[in-house]
Amino acid sequence: MGTIRILQPALVNRIAAGECIERPASVVKELVENALDAGAGQIDVTVVDGGRELIEVVDDGVGMDADDLRLCVEPHATSKLRDDEDLFNIRTMGFRGEALASIGSVARLEITSRPAGSEVGHTIRVEGGAVGQPRPCGAPAGTRVAVRDLFYCVPARRKFLRTNQTEMGHITEYFARLALAHPGVAFTLRHHRRTIHTLAATDDRRQRIADFYGPELAEVLLPIRREGRGVVVEGWVAPPAESRASGRWEYVFVNGRFVRDRFVSHAIREAYRSLIDPSRFPIAFVFLTIDPAEVDVNVHPTKSEVRWRDANYIHAQVLAALREKFLASNLDQPLQTQQAEQEAYRERVRRAMVEFFTSAAPAQRPSATAAQKHAGMAVTSQPDSAAPRQRGDEATEDDARSAGPSFPARPDDGSTRSAEAPNLADVFAGPGSAFAPSGAAGFGLGADVATPVGRKFVQLHNAFIVAETDDGLMIIDQHALHERIVYEELRARLAAGTLESQRLLLPEVVRVPADRLEVLEAHADLLRRLGIELTAAGPQTVALHAFPSLLGRVERTGFVRELLDVLSEQGARPDVESLIHHVLDMLACKAAVKAGDPLTSDEIAALLARRELAERSSHCPHGRPTTLHLSLRDLQRQFARR
Ligand code: ADP
Ligand code: MG
Repeated sequence: MGTIRILQPALVNRIAAGECIERPASVVKELVENALDAGAGQIDVTVVDGGRELIEVVDDGVGMDADDLRLCVEPHATSKLRDDEDLFNIRTMGFRGEALASIGSVARLEITSRPAGSEVGHTIRVEGGAVGQPRPCGAPAGTRVAVRDLFYCVPARRKFLRTNQTEMGHITEYFARLALAHPGVAFTLRHHRRTIHTLAATDDRRQRIADFYGPELAEVLLPIRREGRGVVVEGWVAPPAESRASGRWEYVFVNGRFVRDRFVSHAIREAYRSLIDPSRFPIAFVFLTIDPAEVDVNVHPTKSEVRWRDANYIHAQVLAALREKFLASNLDQPLQTQQAEQEAYRERVRRAMVEFFTSAAPAQRPSATAAQKHAGMAVTSQPDSAAPRQRGDEATEDDARSAGPSFPARPDDGSTRSAEAPNLADVFAGPGSAFAPSGAAGFGLGADVATPVGRKFVQLHNAFIVAETDDGLMIIDQHALHERIVYEELRARLAAGTLESQRLLLPEVVRVPADRLEVLEAHADLLRRLGIELTAAGPQTVALHAFPSLLGRVERTGFVRELLDVLSEQGARPDVESLIHHVLDMLACKAAVKAGDPLTSDEIAALLARRELAERSSHCPHGRPTTLHLSLRDLQRQFARR
């Protein structure tokens, strides 16, 4: 009895601070969000000692008068919410009314502010939770918030702070997220005397991306945009060739707020699946604009998570936005010539040096211009704009040229693609079809193909096809390309229903481990759709009665064993999509021509023609490139003609 006490307000605030103020970067985030909410056009952030000694944010926003100053540092004091309704219609970055009170309880806080219409400014101080009185003072219009000695009164927290460099790395990352989401606001970030970023206001998001991650990356990004039911998905995504080894290159914003969201994230990865190596991550900047009533941001104290009213729709829209773009873009990999590699290497060294001399954290990449300006460092080697690179959306003229009359342009309407997908029966099997099979094998490369007019090609080492293009040549990995083509066609078929199957005259009996028999029932539906009829024929044997008719080339016994292995491991891949991907992948791999298979010129011509029609033909289903390009320009440079 008598052991329960109501906590002192100062302690309550400190507990609240534990949630939203984790480290100096959190302070930067809260203060910059307040400045954005105040309608600032210019926000300047200054940090000393990784934020331990000082974090100062100055804005030219609406400012506060003496009364507001007195209130703003109280807990649960906000100008951004009025009633219950507002909580489900949030249009501001803040709304919880706890940031300033929290900061004031764990640091020395000083706020100086003047509303534009007022003659005089005021300043107020809070130290470890003790709130002073506002005092009049001269001040520019807007607000300056200075936070000194963060966690000075919470030693346990202070101990958790890392080196200046690490904390500065976090600050830069948080700063980047805020600045990327608000390109219309000008920002600066300084550490001690050194300016790390100077960002002019712009209406071009790509410019902001370039400011942070360099013009080389920004240049190759592909724009995406899709709108429906009041949801706008916009952004910039990198072509698959620009993948990274870490997942931190995935930036998702909802109504100007950086969030981590598993639905959007899944959609992004899904779009890149089979275009990049599974161990790599895409680079994507995705901005969603949505009616605030459709999304709950009050899920997490730092507001970094959201809850969707219709998560499936969001997922579908993001996935479609990326897919459409990939289908309409040329994703072929440029051939890395030695010279290009050297240039890329020189450029990496140059960047590393600029970074080393100018930045506090190795993770960040200050824009070269800002860095040069402030470090006074002359950078001699400029990135060579002629270096071969992934062709982005801007290269449509090029694309149009290389499409040529005999290489039909790919349909670019992703949403209706499956409806337009070639009918396999016609394409590969139908009598008199342009791609009539050369033998019994449905996926053989047919003869009688209209050879692309005037295109020269040759097969080398029975593995590679070298073909002329409008602006140079391409080298194709015959197995990888055919694999992708078969994969896409199987996928389109499956999306439209089931794969056509052919009954075997005599069932084929395959010996398998006993536990594999269980999957027959568990995956009966999938097997049926694949056109595979398998029954248990004994404790350790299955009998194969029917097999997809298009897959004559496939060695059936081996495939059945592998298929049952994959299906029995399904615990590891719970979603059906990825299971199907895996199975189709196996089928495609087995059905495709191999390295070492000699091809007739008709077969090569068919392969080239199919390449133009297939989706994602730039990469095989495992995400490896199928095609390398070498432009005449590169050749001429290699031969020192230019
Ligand atoms: P919230 O942002 O959730 O409202 P805060 O504790 O961050 O809570 O801020 C409390 C209030 O102080 C805000 O609602 C706003 O009215 C005011 N305020 C804070 N920072 C600024 C600023 N830079 N300019 C103008 N007003 C500000
Ligand atoms: Mg706030």
